[in-house]
Amino acid sequence: MYDYLIVGSGLYGATLAYLLKNKGFKVLVIEKRDHIGGNIYTKNINGINVHVYGAHIFHTSYEDVWNFVNQFSKFNNFINSPLAYYKGKYFNMPFNMNTFHQMWGVKTPQEAKEKIEEQVKKENIKEIKNLEDQALSLVGRDIYETLIKGYTEKQWGKSAKDLPSFIIKRIPLRFEYDNNYFNDKYQGIPIDGYTKIIERMLEGIEVVLNEDFLKNKEKYLRIAKFIIYSGPIDEYYNYCFGELEYRSLKFEIERINKQSYQNNAVVNYTEFDIPYTRIIEHKFFQIENKDVLNLPFTIISKEYPNSYKIGEERYYAVNDEKNNNLYNRYKEKAETEKNILFGGRLGNYKYFDMDDTIKQAFDDFNKLMNEKNGK
Ligand SMILES: Cc1cc2nc3c(=O)[nH]c(=O)nc-3n(C[C@H](O)[C@H](O)[C@H](O)COP(=O)(O)OP(=O)(O)OC[C@H]3O[C@@H](n4cnc5c(N)ncnc54)[C@H](O)[C@@H]3O)c2cc1C
Repeated sequence: MYDYLIVGSGLYGATLAYLLKNKGFKVLVIEKRDHIGGNIYTKNINGINVHVYGAHIFHTSYEDVWNFVNQFSKFNNFINSPLAYYKGKYFNMPFNMNTFHQMWGVKTPQEAKEKIEEQVKKENIKEIKNLEDQALSLVGRDIYETLIKGYTEKQWGKSAKDLPSFIIKRIPLRFEYDNNYFNDKYQGIPIDGYTKIIERMLEGIEVVLNEDFLKNKEKYLRIAKFIIYSGPIDEYYNYCFGELEYRSLKFEIERINKQSYQNNAVVNYTEFDIPYTRIIEHKFFQIENKDVLNLPFTIISKEYPNSYKIGEERYYAVNDEKNNNLYNRYKEKAETEKNILFGGRLGNYKYFDMDDTIKQAFDDFNKLMNEKNGK
């Protein structure tokens, strides 16, 4: 008999497994993929840590989360500074003075602000009906058409005129020459790759790979006192209220026989006619490792947005009103369960950054322990 059965060896499941094991509980982790780590899994290919499910950059302002992950790996000083490529030109991201200079030749924050104001005024948007109106009313036409429109339309597989405005709540504009994408206090990439972090979290814990909990649910309900489930909540209930929608992605991994392909970890492709949204050059996440940077070959992956149907990988929850209402019905049902907790991005039908995933695992752990202690 196990105290806890954890379904899913992603960051959420592995964090809880580690915390529970350290409290002396008997834990079993089952994972339907043939590897641990969920979507943060990195595969070492000839020395390069390839982010198989998309580029993952750790960034956080939570002190406790940063201390926690640093127990399992050293982190390098990687700073995410993606570039955007549009019709033969490169632009810095996030939108900052470098971008404005590249776009219009302006040099000072004052000039940039005036230019944006002028562009916004020209559009004269009175009523925001869709994502296009929203973006034009925030940044004007040049930035919208060069850096937002094509990328967003590829990402969601819809015209920006048919997308809801809430997808873009605000567009951060930085009036400094600063290409650091994140504002968090801490940022970096684990020097041995993310899989090693998960491996170290799961040390001394029984893990079964290639095992789908839902195919053997009855058996597992018999051998565990409590289930922590980080798979899709609608699938758990056999889609009884209907399917939750997702957006999927496809990654094409290529080895290229030259030292470098694009000299930057992440380049966004913002024109609609190029079918992928990003190219990741994985060795540039390992900036501290000269041996890797000097390898005579490199590995890139092209990221293609893709529609989702059951059987494909679920990447981004489509949190519109219809899907949120559907999720709430599943959530209500889940709240009536006694011996199961739904967690992680799939159990909550929500996008979480890695630090929020760990934070959620901490909170859930505390809740479980308080319940045990009758608090
Ligand atoms: C493209 C992309 C890029 C991202 N980049 C960043 C970034 O730069 N920085 C950042 O902080 N965050 C990033 N994230 C978010 C990050 O991936 C998540 O925070 C993290 O993966 C969530 O972990 P999880 O354990 O909740 O889910 P997952 O990693 O999805 O783990 C769930 C696990 O459960 C398993 N499972 C599901 N159902 C079953 C079942 N029935 N039986 C057995 N096992 C099952 C799955 O196979 C999976 O391994 C990114 C996400 C995406 C999609």
